[in-house]
Amino acid sequence: MVHPDLLEILRCPICVREHENGGALELYKETWLLCTECDRKYPIVEDIPVMLVDEGEKWINTPAAGLPVPPPPFD
Ligand SMILES: [Zn+2]
Repeated sequence: MVHPDLLEILRCPICVREHENGGALELYKETWLLCTECDRKYPIVEDIPVMLVDEGEKWINTPAAGLPVPPPPFD
């Protein structure tokens, strides 16, 4: 379980650069963070949010319902 305080401060690394308070994320099934602006999706692997742009872009065209739960292991 990711700490709620951490979720509060996490932002999509792309959108947060665009404007102040940009890149708000939505927790999905406890295992994904969905950017509400650009549709990048960041997996939470072993309780660690993987906030890497490459990783987020990998899932950009996958609808939330199609995301694997739990996310595949990150290496
Ligand atoms: Zn974004």
